[in-house]
Amino acid sequence: MLNNKGRVTRPQESTENLAEPQESYSGHKGLLMNEPLLFEVGGLDKTGVDLPEYVETETLLGGLERKDEIGLPGLSEPEAVRHYVRLSQQNYAIDSGFYPLGSCTMKHNPRLNEKMARLPGFTDIHPLQPQSSVQGALQLMDELSHWLLELTGMDSIALSPKAGAHGELCGMMAIKAALEAANSSRNIVLVPESAHGTNPATAAQLGFKVASIPADADGTVRASAVQTAIEENGAETIAGIMLTNPNTCGLFEREIKAIADAVHDAGGYFYCDGANFNAIMGRVRPGDLGVDAMHFNLHKTFSTPHGGGGPGSGPVVLSERLSAFAPLPFLQKSDDGLTLVEDLDDGESDSPSDAQPFGRLTAFHGQMGMYVRALSYILSHGLDGLAQASGDAVLNANYIRTCLKDLLNQPFGDQACMHEVLFDESSLADSGVTTLDIAKRLIDEGFHPMTIYFPLVCKGAMLIEPTESESQTSIDLFVETLTSLIKEALAGENEEAFHQAPVHTPRRRLDETAAARKPILRYESSSD
Ligand SMILES: *Cc1c(COP(=O)(O)O)cnc(C)c1O
Repeated sequence: MLNNKGRVTRPQESTENLAEPQESYSGHKGLLMNEPLLFEVGGLDKTGVDLPEYVETETLLGGLERKDEIGLPGLSEPEAVRHYVRLSQQNYAIDSGFYPLGSCTMKHNPRLNEKMARLPGFTDIHPLQPQSSVQGALQLMDELSHWLLELTGMDSIALSPKAGAHGELCGMMAIKAALEAANSSRNIVLVPESAHGTNPATAAQLGFKVASIPADADGTVRASAVQTAIEENGAETIAGIMLTNPNTCGLFEREIKAIADAVHDAGGYFYCDGANFNAIMGRVRPGDLGVDAMHFNLHKTFSTPHGGGGPGSGPVVLSERLSAFAPLPFLQKSDDGLTLVEDLDDGESDSPSDAQPFGRLTAFHGQMGMYVRALSYILSHGLDGLAQASGDAVLNANYIRTCLKDLLNQPFGDQACMHEVLFDESSLADSGVTTLDIAKRLIDEGFHPMTIYFPLVCKGAMLIEPTESESQTSIDLFVETLTSLIKEALAGENEEAFHQAPVHTPRRRLDETAAARKPILRYESSSD
């Protein structure tokens, strides 16, 4: 039975003698509107603005000017406003409810950070302004750099990458540049099989060959497995390893130092995927573990609204061995203040003589708004607060694990996890209900589902990450809801309801195979 903690109690609502809900005439479901496309709402023959009379002028387009109607829908202002407000109401967000999406770290974004990021001194400046006029912004970047280096025990930093995957590319390009500078032909990158897909993709994109390392029965990588892979491929071929810690199964790689030693002894570099840094920040410094390059996902670890493709920010910290190869631009301090070194050949900078930047990754300097949010998060927490945030993230994940472990199977055994807990669907095997069905029923219950079918190392993965910012009340309601669904499935009740879900959403279950195989990528109006 569910208890009433946190449950919505409805004002006296009579459910007796009520028939099944009927399809509505309008297509809307109560006050949840079924929103058509802008092209279906608007008409080509109307407009919401008064434009001045068109005056014929001489064209400079040499016959390339458009002959037909542009085909953009015209809407009045209230129609346009309603369209976007309704769409926004269909959007699930961390501000509307629990978002336990493993691997993504959907944590509360403190309003303080937003307030700071909106200060005119940050929003009203331009990347091409003279640097003497943006010293405050440069100082913020410098202070953020200082914190990120301090938290990781690393030597230098590249702030500019704009996502985790972009940071991976940056770190691996620094490794590639270091190998090229040493005239090395090392071309094999070791990647554990539980890795996020961006790891092997990054290595392959840079022309490295990927050699996969199996995980042990406990879900982590053994140093002996790394040693075996090094011997099988030949130590002289090893460019490096890409290891995520804590890994994508939510487990701490306990042999990380021995793994670093094995790779270094072979002459390779150690790239650490730091997307899960939120589990260890303020407690472990990756530099002390032998890491040569690591990206942060500022948008995961240090808050910032994210999802739907952005915004992201993936600064990379580098060890002393790789510092010289850090990309442009980088910050440099002098008596005149801070300089963002944009070009080594411009004759203006007196850059460190050993700097051999591999190039640059972004047109300007990266995501300023995210630097402001990350530094606000860091300063408002302090070092002790950051350590508490990572501790609370781990505590919350283990609370969920403990509540659910008798109902769901942990693929790598009954062991404590870090910031996220991984279950598979094996305990549901005889019920006819799958991970997908559970996720869809959760949507009907008002929860964004956990991450499903990732990582690929187990069957029907459910990866749950509560983060530090959820209250026990909201976690309890999620756990109780999931518990009742699993018990329902195990009891063989309502199997059809599982396959039908979701039923309370604007759209029902989609044909994902058709969507992937036969995507409709172009809107065609019914009048065409
Ligand atoms: C999120 C994530 C990435 C990729 O980060 P993006 O910012 O989405 O590009 C890489 N590795 C791991 C382990 C992640 O969780």
